[in-house]
Amino acid sequence: MLAQRTALFKSSGTAAARAAAKAAADAGKEIVDLTAGEIWSSLAPNVRDGAIEAIQKGINRYTDTIGLAELREALARKVSLDTGQLWQPDEIAVTSGAKQALFNAAMTLLNPGDEVIIPSPYWTTFPAQVMIAGATPVFVETRSNGYVPRIEDIKAAVTERTRAIVINTPANPTGAVYDVQTLVAISELAVNRNFWIIFDECYGDFVHGRRTHHPIVSLVPEVRSHTVIINAFSKSLALTGWRIGYLAAPKDVVIAVKALQSHTTSNPNVIAQHAVLAHLRRDDGVYQANLRSQLASARQIGLGVLASLKRVPVPEAQGGFYFYLDLSELLKKSATGDAETADEVVNALLSEAGVAAVSGTAFGDPSGLRLSYGIPPQMLEAGLSRLVEFLNAWK
Ligand code: PLP
Repeated sequence: MLAQRTALFKSSGTAAARAAAKAAADAGKEIVDLTAGEIWSSLAPNVRDGAIEAIQKGINRYTDTIGLAELREALARKVSLDTGQLWQPDEIAVTSGAKQALFNAAMTLLNPGDEVIIPSPYWTTFPAQVMIAGATPVFVETRSNGYVPRIEDIKAAVTERTRAIVINTPANPTGAVYDVQTLVAISELAVNRNFWIIFDECYGDFVHGRRTHHPIVSLVPEVRSHTVIINAFSKSLALTGWRIGYLAAPKDVVIAVKALQSHTTSNPNVIAQHAVLAHLRRDDGVYQANLRSQLASARQIGLGVLASLKRVPVPEAQGGFYFYLDLSELLKKSATGDAETADEVVNALLSEAGVAAVSGTAFGDPSGLRLSYGIPPQMLEAGLSRLVEFLNAWK
């Protein structure tokens, strides 16, 4: 007999898509996997050296629950540089990836019955964690506005119970990069109506074209007392498996997070902490610059192939490393009036064209399709070419 809470969540839709791709590959099919929420890349040299040095020194003990003091100092310097404001180590908590940072925020900020505004399509874990914390997600539609919420729509969603809004820019899955005006308006609303901004900038290093990523507190300093910044090295250093993330927040939030984390996971892996610390101390920016140019070139290759789509608009892909397709023109209504969903496209795409993608249903959007371009260029080109041929022939 399971707890009632288990009815609030199921395994993440992106993980399920990855598993389906792997099952097809294990069965001997030649699959191009465009489901990954991570970047294909070699290990950053400073991270590798930092880990080896820590192992050679025989480091094996617990650290402070919310991270090594030196790492929190280095992160305070990083956040200060990112935001243009001074941050102290006691405003930083190191976590096992951004996911734990978000979970800590949900568990320390939300009461049962609270409402949390989440722009939709959304990364699937946002509403799951809100519900685990006993609060209720309130979705705000964004597709009709280039995947950035309209401030009027956010205002209309605010109630007495609104406790937080989740802002993820650049956004997973849509790639939208929020503009200054929207971020300033959200900040003013949060301050005036007294709610939190959970600001997830995990993809902040990857913005394309003429877009710029704006940490929200750098635009409106007063919003800092209402903001929890969430970040990680999972995407920016292609370190998904190492599980180092962090949050930056007012001290009382960090104290509560520390108490919570002391009863859940304790400190993130000590070797991974030393590895990231070595990177932050020795960083010359070369590894990240290479990663950014690898993704910029993959994006160009991908957009070139997707330009041949006939009934699906070519995505803007402003940030992150995803192409997010809007299939609404393609999906038909059946005789019973039920619309097809992207699930059907995804299933047929995998079985007929050998291309794995993530259906928008995982993101609360039955007509979306997410394609990752963090994979080797030849594979990307082959996979997208098959996808274009498949979608152009969709009846
Ligand atoms: N936030 C967003 C928007 C993500 O897309 C992801 C991972 O896909 C995470 C957080 C979690 O990152 P981590 O692997 O550091 O837990």
